[in-house]
Amino acid sequence: MNLNTKKLFHDAEAGGYAIGQFNASTADQIKGIIGTAARMRAPVIVATSEGECAFIGARQVVKLCEAYEEEAGIPIILNADHTYKDAEKIENLDKIKALLTAGYNSIHFDGSVLSFEDNVRWTKQVVELCKEKDPGISVEGELGFLPGASEVSEKKVEIKPEYLTDPAQALEFVRATGVDRLAVSVGNSHGISFQEDRLDIERIGKIKEAIGDHAVLVLHGGSGIPDEQIRAAIAHGIRKINVNTELRVAFHGALKEVLTTTPQTTPYKFFPPAIDAVARVVEGKITVFGSGMHA
Ligand SMILES: [Zn+2]
Repeated sequence: MNLNTKKLFHDAEAGGYAIGQFNASTADQIKGIIGTAARMRAPVIVATSEGECAFIGARQVVKLCEAYEEEAGIPIILNADHTYKDAEKIENLDKIKALLTAGYNSIHFDGSVLSFEDNVRWTKQVVELCKEKDPGISVEGELGFLPGASEVSEKKVEIKPEYLTDPAQALEFVRATGVDRLAVSVGNSHGISFQEDRLDIERIGKIKEAIGDHAVLVLHGGSGIPDEQIRAAIAHGIRKINVNTELRVAFHGALKEVLTTTPQTTPYKFFPPAIDAVARVVEGKITVFGSGMHA
């Protein structure tokens, strides 16, 4: 997976589409994600959160993606999602070193809980560490705060004005850190809440205008946002969109259905409906993101 990640995002910018990031923690989910991306000829990002990575194994997920990449012939970015989200034991950046050794070609360092100065300082170190290993490794930083977790919530997720990313500060951040990508807070939240997010499209446009080609704009919390808002976000400069919760819900629902309605005990027979459910979500997202036929 020695990809020219810059070119993938450059192509997305030129083509006016967004590349989908889909989280997974099992080989079955990855089969659904990559199978669909390959069929639709879409560049794709597979991602693991810290918990997802701990479950599947960093080396294991790298090898799995490598095998799929060879077979499918589409570029696959493997991203470590929200590394150091809680900013604990950050000192030696050991987690990131381990992910790079395992073969991840993309790192998302989440310093959003830190002060602006500390976020800049640590993100810059992560960028240096990654580029030293391989300049092709793509690094994502995060500025602004994103509430919520990757689950379905009945509560309204409150997005306070101070959470939102400031366009001028965004430019300062990307210049000072050298990140390839910037995750922003623009009315989005993690997970699916019963009261839908309303994206601040104007803010997305202003951030894009401020940072120009210095970094790729990333939208987290892509689950549960209406398609027309996603399209508007892409039209205003979003080039990478993260989806997790919708995949979890689809996988779990289909698996539960098959396990409770059939006496099936053979994994390779009871997993396919869950894989298909993941595939349908991914297909819908790639269609809205416009990334199909670009790989
Ligand atoms: Zn996220």
